[in-house]
Amino acid sequence: MFSTLSDRLTTVLQGLRGKGRLSDADIDATAREIRVALLEADVALPVVRGFIAKVKERAKGSEVHQALNPAQQVVKIVNEELINVLGGETRRLNLAKNPPSVIMLAGLQGAGKTTLAGKLAKWLKGQGHTPLLVAADLQRPNAVTQLQVVGERAGVPVFAPEPGNGVGNPVEVSRLGIEEAKAKQHDIVLVDTAGRLGVDEEMMKQAIDIRAAVNPDEVLFVVDAMVGQDAINTATAFRDGVGFTGVVLTKLDGDARGGAALSVREVTGQPILFASNGEKLEDFDVFHPDRMASRILG
Ligand code: GDP
Repeated sequence: MFSTLSDRLTTVLQGLRGKGRLSDADIDATAREIRVALLEADVALPVVRGFIAKVKERAKGSEVHQALNPAQQVVKIVNEELINVLGGETRRLNLAKNPPSVIMLAGLQGAGKTTLAGKLAKWLKGQGHTPLLVAADLQRPNAVTQLQVVGERAGVPVFAPEPGNGVGNPVEVSRLGIEEAKAKQHDIVLVDTAGRLGVDEEMMKQAIDIRAAVNPDEVLFVVDAMVGQDAINTATAFRDGVGFTGVVLTKLDGDARGGAALSVREVTGQPILFASNGEKLEDFDVFHPDRMASRILG
């Protein structure tokens, strides 16, 4: 991901080297090239506009004029503004003062929710937590079994509906899952919910009902970073529907252009907490805006 954007930005910024003083015209030309590179990487237009405006304003100011190496100073500004677009500081998971903490996962089918549930469970376990996975995706035929498989791999138990115990009713399964966590002293509950191939009213209502029933400490919107601008429309629909407190980007290992990753924070106003970059349970990490910006700038 980001390889084209990364190459383009590096080339643009390298073009400034050896120029000594930078005129406003130099900065305008550079900003134009950065703008094109971001748009071609599928970054949402309002995000591009805001980004370019900030870079231009700062690059024309005294921090560049007075710098010993103006070109390097512009690189520093672009880096800092990229970090800002990606959310600034690393945002830690919000956990309840009185366990169990409840984390609800929402997103479209195929976004990587169930895989992410296993990754997050494994990571939390590694941090000394005692998570419980709750299989409340009753839409996709194999989702419960798939969660049981990833749970087993992660070494984390899974609460799944049983006859007479929530079958067909994801809200009830979620509620019972929390009861189970309390009874068995799990300190974190991860609720995997159903997605559809596209945003639909019934799915959103179900997510809203689950959210109301389990009162989560975090609702994480899981989004496939490979789907480009569409990810932004989906994110907006989830923000306005069930609402969410954080984002997880998946499939960052793909070779898509990466615009969704760069847009989702600004467009939804919610921070990116984690990133998934592969199919294995270990392919997962806390999202650090500064590291991602460095990766983009090569
Ligand atoms: P869900 O429908 O949202 O629960 O999505 P799944 O967890 O079933 O994932 C859908 C597909 O994407 C599966 O084939 C996963 O193996 C794959 N997948 C999930 N996360 C990643 C990732 O970070 N990178 C890659 N390359 N594939 C992933």
